[in-house]
Amino acid sequence: MFEKTIAVIGTGYVGVTTSAILANAGYKVYALDISEDRLQALREGRSFFYEEGINPLIKTAVDNGNLIPTTSYEEAVSNSKFVFSCVGTPDRPDGSSNLDYVFAAAEECAKYIKPGSIYIQKSTVPVGTGRKVSETFKDKSVAYTSNPEFLREGTAVLDTLFFDRIVVGGADKEAVKQVLDLYQEVEKNQKEIAKLAGLQPKEVKGEYIATNLDSAELIKVTSNAFLALKISFANSIAQLADKTDADVVEVMHAAGADPRIGRAFLNAGRGYGGGCFPKDVRGLISSAESFGVDLQIMKAADSLNRQMPEYIVSKAAQKTGDFKGKRAAVLGLSFKAGTSDARKSPGVKIANLLAGTGASVNAYDPEANGEAKEDLTDSVNLVESAEEAVKDAEIIFVATDWPEFKEINLNELKSAMTGSLLVDCMNIYDPEKALAAGLEFIGVGRN
Ligand code: NAD
Repeated sequence: MFEKTIAVIGTGYVGVTTSAILANAGYKVYALDISEDRLQALREGRSFFYEEGINPLIKTAVDNGNLIPTTSYEEAVSNSKFVFSCVGTPDRPDGSSNLDYVFAAAEECAKYIKPGSIYIQKSTVPVGTGRKVSETFKDKSVAYTSNPEFLREGTAVLDTLFFDRIVVGGADKEAVKQVLDLYQEVEKNQKEIAKLAGLQPKEVKGEYIATNLDSAELIKVTSNAFLALKISFANSIAQLADKTDADVVEVMHAAGADPRIGRAFLNAGRGYGGGCFPKDVRGLISSAESFGVDLQIMKAADSLNRQMPEYIVSKAAQKTGDFKGKRAAVLGLSFKAGTSDARKSPGVKIANLLAGTGASVNAYDPEANGEAKEDLTDSVNLVESAEEAVKDAEIIFVATDWPEFKEINLNELKSAMTGSLLVDCMNIYDPEKALAAGLEFIGVGRN
């Protein structure tokens, strides 16, 4: 049984998804956290966050005893051959990665871990971290590996089941192989688990990549940094397009048709947010500095990204004048569609900026009102529906591409408003249709 038992330390977005899937792929999984609230949600057969397909997986595994929520390191770790660390790695104010949770979890695990076990770092950490954390397991006959996570919130279950690559790095080749083998079990069961989750299986043949510790760590941050770079690149071209008659959506469509460039992530808009890109970009800049490398290109991407919400709000102000006393609505507070995660969300930033200028702001998100609440200033009025948010609004900002916003009837939207300015912060509407509905329209990089 030991060989088929797993401990997952940290039941956040990554830990819950990992636990729920491994527990449905034939493993017994202890899901450990220090947060009673998050564990209580698991005991009730659900996740603390919104993610399509995750709840049936949790419920099935909790009911059949394969998923065991616990706060006890002793119970979870001493029984497990594989110990995954999925704790948070937030950024510090100076941009560097806060690795306190990573070290605390490793130290706690080291007290109970059995010889022959494998410690698997899933959290995103700066290159070189694993060499330091692995010292914690010195003299314990425990192999240390890095297995960075690539799931995307909003498609986390499908991404984990139908992965495009699994990367495992470590000095102990046999341990690396055993971790890769875990994912072969996931792959074998992927269609059945997708069915249980109520999701449509995908046709993807994932690649298994064995490498060393430093490369595995650097692969993860490189991937996120490059995606962030594409977004900031699109936004810098959008700022130029705004001064001309060019439409950045058409520009990126045509530029991205070249397979050497690729269309994905060349989307201009209010910039990236969430619990990963902003901190991973800043973490990479900071870790490069610690090795004496100045990553100017990433500094530029980060700086442009921070400006985008202000850029959009000031574009709207050029049209309307002062926002003081104006009624504004912000639709979309999650950092992207498909998730309730509102960490470092541009929609929240836009709502706060508007409230700061004296506008009266209604804000709404189909899933993220709860998680956005603590980051919104008190003067932003959270409401329960899009209809309520836009009623009598003079200006509407659409900040997340939720299907319910994309499919909104623009004629009805105009009728509900007392003003007429629609600010499309994600470039999701056809400007001509918006104009035909009697709206004034502002996109990002499309005049
Ligand atoms: P999260 O903040 O949602 O979850 C982390 C969890 O760890 C929390 O529930 C916290 O209570 C728990 N924790 C902290 N210290 C602990 C300890 N000592 N013992 C036990 N539990 C502890 O974070 P997340 O979004 O799941 O991300 C986890 C890691 O995965 C991060 O490094 C992140 O960068 C990376 N990652 C996240 C995503 C994503 O989409 N969220 C994707 C890929 C990689």
